[in-house]
Amino acid sequence: MNIKPINKWIPNLKRPLVIAGPCSAETEEQMLATAKAVREIEDVRIFRAGIWKPRTRPNSFEGVGEKGLAWLKTVKEETGLLVTTEVANAGHVELALKNDIDILWIGARTTVNPFSVQEIADALKGTNIPVMVKNPINADLALWIGALERLNLAGIDKLVAIHRGFSSAEKTEYRNVPHWRIPIELKRRLPELPIVCDPSHITGDRHRIALVCQKAMDVDMDGVMVETHPTPDEAWSDAAQQVTPTMLAEITKSLKLKTEFSHDRSFETELSELRQQIDRIDSELMESLRMRFNIVERIGDLKMKNHVTALQVHRMDEMINKVKALAENMGLRGQFANELYHVIHEESVKIQAEMMRSFLKEQEKKN
Ligand code: PEP
Ligand code: MN
Repeated sequence: MNIKPINKWIPNLKRPLVIAGPCSAETEEQMLATAKAVREIEDVRIFRAGIWKPRTRPNSFEGVGEKGLAWLKTVKEETGLLVTTEVANAGHVELALKNDIDILWIGARTTVNPFSVQEIADALKGTNIPVMVKNPINADLALWIGALERLNLAGIDKLVAIHRGFSSAEKTEYRNVPHWRIPIELKRRLPELPIVCDPSHITGDRHRIALVCQKAMDVDMDGVMVETHPTPDEAWSDAAQQVTPTMLAEITKSLKLKTEFSHDRSFETELSELRQQIDRIDSELMESLRMRFNIVERIGDLKMKNHVTALQVHRMDEMINKVKALAENMGLRGQFANELYHVIHEESVKIQAEMMRSFLKEQEKKN
């Protein structure tokens, strides 16, 4: 992909780039009050506000619509901030362009749909307006990259990725699970693409935003998008995850910036940073194991219904050989992978055997 470095189109940009503003535009007064307050925060360069809101259920507030574009224009004129809003179809794009919106963003519910993304890309041909692409709702990196590619093929080279976490069927501590390895892999594949983290939609909870902002800096992201409202509790959408401008100022002030290539770090800082990375990877490993064992349980269920034994030796050999080869390809010791997978497999068999035992007990009780 041909991506223009972000400091070529946002002058005097410093890290972190902070994007602030309400989840939704509500009134012109709310917009201006928020914008004037966040402009005082040095790192804030872009003002966000949704005017067409994709809501999970009908009959909730679906945005003020077109009139909000005029309010964004006023914000831009009165504060000098760049302004951005979400577009989900060609009609939105046309109106946003007509009203001189500086930057567009594509929401998570739109990124999942190649038809919609293509419609937006087609509507943008010949403009080269910057576009920020939120990750799709589901944890699918290819779909995220695909959306960026569609825009790039339409001639958009001012691109930003926004990491807003991924929806999960399981109950988790996050509103949208971050799965940090996905944006990290995106950065590995497209190192020139700026990535901004959206801790509001990740946490769903204003009290946990600071922590996720710091984590975003620790994994070398370029900035954060934080939903900001003068009176968050009264917000018409996403109330729990918006902060006041004062809170945002505190969060940005507290961020410790770490750059990937700094050489003059003291031993302690470097060590603690490495340990944080290890902790992060460990928590991802545990998350992956949890997901693996969930599937093991589903297989156990299937086996029971079909009267098949928990331990199937040929499957175990096949799996361990596969993992061993995979590990060796990645420069890990095959013997290590072998031992690790014996332990994991043993646990899987235990889980399924336990399921079988309680199933039989239930049956006995019934008879
Ligand atoms: C938003 O930014 O308010 C929004 C709707 O986000 P997402 O597309 O990430 O859900
Ligand atoms: Mn929102």
